Amino acid sequence: MKTYQHYIDGQYVDPIGKEWLDTVNPYTGKAWAKIPKGCAKDVDRAVQAAKRAMTDGPYAKMTATERGKMMLRLAELVAKHAERLAEIEVMDNGKLIAEMRGQMNYHPEWWRYFGGLADKLEGSVMPIDKPDIFAFSRHEPVGVVAALTAWNSPLLFVAWKCAPAIAAGCSVVIKPSEFTSASTLDYAALTKEAGFPDGVFNVVTGYGPEAGSALVDHPDVAKITFTGSDATGARIYAQAAKTMKRVTLELGGKSPNIVFDDCNLDKAAAGVISGIFAATGQTCIAGSRLLVQNSIKEAFTKKVAELGATARKGDPMAADTNIGPVTTPAQYQKILDYIDIAKKEGATWRIAREEVFGPVLSIIGFDTEEEAIRLANDSIYGLAAGVWTENIGRAVRMSKALRAGTVWVNTYRAVSYMMPFGGMKHSGIGRESGMESVQGYLETKSTWISYAEGAPANPFIMR
Ligand code: NAD
Repeated sequence: MKTYQHYIDGQYVDPIGKEWLDTVNPYTGKAWAKIPKGCAKDVDRAVQAAKRAMTDGPYAKMTATERGKMMLRLAELVAKHAERLAEIEVMDNGKLIAEMRGQMNYHPEWWRYFGGLADKLEGSVMPIDKPDIFAFSRHEPVGVVAALTAWNSPLLFVAWKCAPAIAAGCSVVIKPSEFTSASTLDYAALTKEAGFPDGVFNVVTGYGPEAGSALVDHPDVAKITFTGSDATGARIYAQAAKTMKRVTLELGGKSPNIVFDDCNLDKAAAGVISGIFAATGQTCIAGSRLLVQNSIKEAFTKKVAELGATARKGDPMAADTNIGPVTTPAQYQKILDYIDIAKKEGATWRIAREEVFGPVLSIIGFDTEEEAIRLANDSIYGLAAGVWTENIGRAVRMSKALRAGTVWVNTYRAVSYMMPFGGMKHSGIGRESGMESVQGYLETKSTWISYAEGAPANPFIMR
């Protein structure tokens, strides 16, 4: 069995408390590695290293161009090790190897995109409307960033969070989910090989309420970027306010997949299946509410059920498996409980509102476009939505009316490093990926320089 260590200040180190947790392969149900059970002291050690990196030493002196090149080197190393990292992720969280291969081959693009952006984060010179003043703005890194990630896509979240943070000049301390920390710990070695100075990229593992909470409280952490449930997100938001930390929150969803009777039915059925069965439904963007026009409800439901029944369940390491295991026994039980509740309640109300985070689809009929919009927006969540129609006017009207951070029309579950991603309402705060995500890791400073020769005529008034 492999034993991992924390990655702090450019080296792998034992946890201070000398305690480890088992990490379990969801398909076999057997422990395959040990990860450190970090405590507040481990967290402090990592945060101090991250702070030193930003204030002393080579990282603090690096130009943005050099930082960008370092990120490009990491992109190449991730590409080289993509297969190995994909296999670790499959072993740790049960995602399909077919999906992980695609994900890891695409993953380096985040480092390439944000590496290229590092030296383009320009400030502005303002044509100030006051005499004898030269005024400009510049962007500075916000400070040490703590990245808390969920168990469903640990490595993807590393790229989404760390690439913009490091482009901005921040250092990071990552606390992955206690269920799936191995891939992030393994990945850390590549940052050393890419020439990341010590302390820029740190990984501390352990339980959320212990290691995670210590990061949220730490006075030298300036920003929290969190992906996880809305309950934990709300707790962290309140806790972070005490030390005035900046926060980005990527939370849950109950995304509607809206099928109109004028759509391409084969394409829509495939999109609905991908929305709810991909990653065994354990994705924040799961299209877990199928809203289907009543004129085709019966026929379309049959089509979806038939297509769903063709899914091959089994070993996620097999290239032809369509549905792998649920990641943890607790999550499996939660899904079964929801199905039970749905059966008892005659499959109404509750299961169509709460995030199950599993392969469970609620089906609701509608008659008109207005009714579809009302049902789709009747949720505390606003992460994503799918619309299936061949009517271009309807597609544009729907994309405008839906209160969701992402609207896919005639496609589902597409993401890119260049497209902002994030939620409205209870689905979160802020955006990841795309140019604007880097703003979440920057502070803007305004500088005023007077080049007037004499003192002002009246020093008692505002200039
Ligand atoms: P979770 O909220 O239980 O845990 C997320 C992370 O927070 C983990 O690292 C955990 O250890 C840590 N944590 C837990 N309690 C903490 C505390 N008190 N203080 C500090 N840290 C703490 O979420 P999960 O079960 O790992 O993930 C599933 C959830 O994540 C789902 O709700 C899903 O929708 C959401 N999610 C959202 C996105 C998105 O981008 N919007 C993506 C994937 C998953």
